[in-house]
Amino acid sequence: MSITGNKKTACAESSCMQSRRRFLLGAGAILLAPGVLLTVRPALADETGRQRWGLLIDTRRCVGDCSACVTACSTTHGLVSNGRPATDPQWIRKVQVTDPGTGHVAHMPIMCQHCGNAQCVEVCPTGASLKRADGIVLVDKHLCIGCRYCVMACPFKARGFAHEEVENPSPVSPRGKGSAEGCTMCVHRINKGQLPACVEACARSGHEAILFGDLNDPTSLIAKRVVAFGAAALRADLRTDPSVRYVGVNL
Ligand code: SF4
Ligand code: SF4
Repeated sequence: MSITGNKKTACAESSCMQSRRRFLLGAGAILLAPGVLLTVRPALADETGRQRWGLLIDTRRCVGDCSACVTACSTTHGLVSNGRPATDPQWIRKVQVTDPGTGHVAHMPIMCQHCGNAQCVEVCPTGASLKRADGIVLVDKHLCIGCRYCVMACPFKARGFAHEEVENPSPVSPRGKGSAEGCTMCVHRINKGQLPACVEACARSGHEAILFGDLNDPTSLIAKRVVAFGAAALRADLRTDPSVRYVGVNL
């Protein structure tokens, strides 16, 4: 299978390591070395540990000339283009895949896969890259030192990096130059019982290619469809146990 699409790469400029950063040295934080904190993050009230939030992407319903999910994501999180495609922030990539055997072409949005076995979390030296009890993988921007270990460790190129100053950050998605970042599964919306912005936008476009729900609840629509459709994980051979599953492509 060949894959084409725009991909983000780690910043090559050492200046990205500089700029900002307000570290919080409070309860549960240990100073390992100057500028390096080890933190133990308590679970948030929204996380029961019972749910595992996930996305099911039906590529049979996704089309090449639609980017509603990408636009909704960028609008929601204040991801503004600086006219530099190589480094402009984009948390969902639309990718076209071709099955070399059949010639079948599919379009698939790829975002952070919110891995159960998240390499980005494993390699982070400060605890900034974290996984909530409900499976959502996030970056604590206050703790990120911009080392980009996570960017390099992510096998899906889903962990991005803020290369530019952020002039008007979205109030629901604080960002700052020099920090790692990526899809939050719109945790701010989930916490309020709303759907992620990409899911809502895809439905509004009439395609309904992205389904959100609790993978741990066998009675949920997403859990039923994962089984019924034989949904697959990207690069299952890597055993990262993603919370995002795909239908309609021979992965
Ligand atoms: S897709 Fe990448 S950034 Fe997201 S949880 Fe997995 S390893 Fe981390
Ligand atoms: S760049 Fe990634 S690995 Fe490094 S501190 Fe930030 S979140 Fe952790």
